[in-house]
Amino acid sequence: MKVGRRAFIGFVAGGIAGTLLSPIPWKLADDIAIWTQNWSWRPSPKRGHRAGVGTLCTMCGSACSVEVDLVDRQRAIYVRGSSLSPLNKGGLCALGASAVQFLYSPYRVRQPLRQTKKRGDRTGFKAISWKEAIGELGARLKKLYEEGKGHQVACLSGQRYTSLYELWSLFCGALGSSNLFAMPRETDGHSAVSQALFGHEGPFAFRLYRATGILNFGAEWADGWSSCAPMGRMYEEWVREVPGKGRTEIVHVSSRLSMSASKSNEWIPVKPGTEAALALGIAHVLIRENRVFRGVEEYEGYLNWIDSSGETRQGFRDYVLKEYSPDRVSGITGAPAAKIEELARWVASQPSPLVVWGSEGFGGPGFFHHEMAYVALNMLLGNFEDKGLCTFTPVTNSLKAAQGEESLAEERLDVAAGTSGLVGARSNSIYAFFEALAQGKGYPVDVLLVCEANPIYSMADAALVRDAWSKAGFTVAMTGFMDETALEADLILPTPVMLERWDDVTAVPGLPFALYGLSAPVINPLYDVKHPGDVVLQLAAMVGDETRRALPWKKYEDVLKAQVKFIADQGIGAVSDDKTDFSHLEPDKTPKKNYRNAADLLKKLKKGSLWYAPVASTSQFVKTETGKPRFFASVLENAGMGLEKPELLMPHFLALQSSGSEQEYPLLLVAYGVSYISSGYFPNSPLMMKNLWDFELKGNDGFIGVNPATAKELGLAEGMSVVVETPQGKARARVHLSPAVSPGLIAAVKGLGHWAYDEYLADKGLRVTELTEVQLDPVTALGVERVTRAKLVRA
Ligand code: SF4
Repeated sequence: MKVGRRAFIGFVAGGIAGTLLSPIPWKLADDIAIWTQNWSWRPSPKRGHRAGVGTLCTMCGSACSVEVDLVDRQRAIYVRGSSLSPLNKGGLCALGASAVQFLYSPYRVRQPLRQTKKRGDRTGFKAISWKEAIGELGARLKKLYEEGKGHQVACLSGQRYTSLYELWSLFCGALGSSNLFAMPRETDGHSAVSQALFGHEGPFAFRLYRATGILNFGAEWADGWSSCAPMGRMYEEWVREVPGKGRTEIVHVSSRLSMSASKSNEWIPVKPGTEAALALGIAHVLIRENRVFRGVEEYEGYLNWIDSSGETRQGFRDYVLKEYSPDRVSGITGAPAAKIEELARWVASQPSPLVVWGSEGFGGPGFFHHEMAYVALNMLLGNFEDKGLCTFTPVTNSLKAAQGEESLAEERLDVAAGTSGLVGARSNSIYAFFEALAQGKGYPVDVLLVCEANPIYSMADAALVRDAWSKAGFTVAMTGFMDETALEADLILPTPVMLERWDDVTAVPGLPFALYGLSAPVINPLYDVKHPGDVVLQLAAMVGDETRRALPWKKYEDVLKAQVKFIADQGIGAVSDDKTDFSHLEPDKTPKKNYRNAADLLKKLKKGSLWYAPVASTSQFVKTETGKPRFFASVLENAGMGLEKPELLMPHFLALQSSGSEQEYPLLLVAYGVSYISSGYFPNSPLMMKNLWDFELKGNDGFIGVNPATAKELGLAEGMSVVVETPQGKARARVHLSPAVSPGLIAAVKGLGHWAYDEYLADKGLRVTELTEVQLDPVTALGVERVTRAKLVRA
């Protein structure tokens, strides 16, 4: 996740005791002591009355309830986990614990700034008033709208499962633009695949607590996969002996011995990017030995079928039996054929087996056909049946329903330019958009708005992003911080940070129930900032009739109150308290409604509690013609594909097509995320920087992980300086010998190497996004980041 969701440190959970036993509050207290002594811009709170106020942490979308200590009701000095959310039960991650550091950080933007010189010139920013800032932006948008060129406006949102994203969606729609994107995340891939196989746009959800055996293809659950908070608690449950279930066994398949792999019962190392082939090899054994769910034959495309033109199509069963024998899969993955057979039998022997998958810490979506392979394996296990372990996360959103869908005159830029995939504008294909923009295809982008995201730093294939940015007419960064994207903007609109603002969470992807949380401000903003939601509403009021009609609210707080009323009017679900247990929420166990009306619900949510409701049965989400899941992507069949090559329709393994030759770049670079380094909108706080290992950062030097055998071949030793070179770029680093990195691989952590912010962050470590390659998936056009060809040269 994600949400730049690679932003968490080892999550500490476990009820109230979690807070007390967690090292984090103590570490934080200790750290604040050091920090207040040494940091030039340290806060010096005046003495006064100290009291705690509840709210919700919205820094990553995991919806942790927190309590904020205030002095004299106005000065925030401390954030701790609260037990009001059963998701975190008093736990807190380092990013959440750093909320106060971000609040007082010196790199906050304190008033609107206009670039007066060349874009990117740090000396060119001039402070202007909000009237001037909104006046200029509103006038540009109004002109485009009136000229019928609203489609030439694009927006990139850092948030996704929030009302703010939906507000942007309404605004762009009313303006006439379909160029709305969110920062890439794993759920982008889930949405595309679930739409193709179920007719419902995900995201997928998992009943992890019921699994007795988990076969995990690269889901870094200890490093932020799914939702950080529930995963911390889930691990406790997996390792505990549960009566009638025992302990959950976990097998982790990946190319790198990550934190999640090391906490699993077994790690199966495979060649990078080949996990999906292993999944299909296991499917082969399950089918061959007739160990599949009996009802799977009713699923569309499992058996051979006759299409509308009378042609016989090969079904998944025959295709997998023919193409993915353990011997062949062994050749692709490097895993022994006997191990593939053994794994399949282990899965089949589990009373409740579950397959999960992720992007091996990359944080973005996977290849469409690979994701299909993991879903197919779950289908073979019967996990998408009503009582199964897989379902979908419902998203609470009244805004679209109230306004209706907009019909847009112009296609999205990547669709118009021909860089989009076969699913067209249904997918969040920001990379395809950037490619079109960089190449000058389609139509111009006159205004590019970035809302609380830092694409110039955090998106892989940084050169493409920079190139695209340089082609946009007028660039606007709505941000709380002077980050890399703000430095490159024409206009900076400063936003409040958590604790100063209203926000909500409309879903936590991966959770098998509906959830809504509200984050109310606990202090007034410290600076002359505006909530981006309020900016959108002001712009909507200025631009034209359509935008005014679509966004009738006076202030963003009213939008959130409308969401709460929408939930209350349905009269379902309940509000969490410190006794609520989310981990066994089943469709047939409806919680008793415990709020009276919208006002009561609002009051409870403002304190940091969560509204929740179990999902309806999984079959209610399945919108295929037969009402059954399918093994093939009908969207591709409709595009006339699959007659010659049946695998184009079905889950299959795609070999990597990385740039550069193996001769010139004999190594493969893996850029991975970890829970304790933030690589998204929020940078690492001083607290987080101090917790880095000395093999991740030493002074200003970043490290590249190299297997000892590979290092020996290359004549490299621990600490040696090297240049890492890929077809995308080069960077200096020091060598760290690590058996966790497979031979032939090199590995670098994401989230370091900033050039903005302050002395705690700037120029520290390796900027890996300059080195990594992104491949556009041919179906979804989602940018997939896997491995990049590389070489190491002694510096
Ligand atoms: S996991 Fe996310 S929501 Fe929870 S405390 Fe950390 S940043 Fe906040």
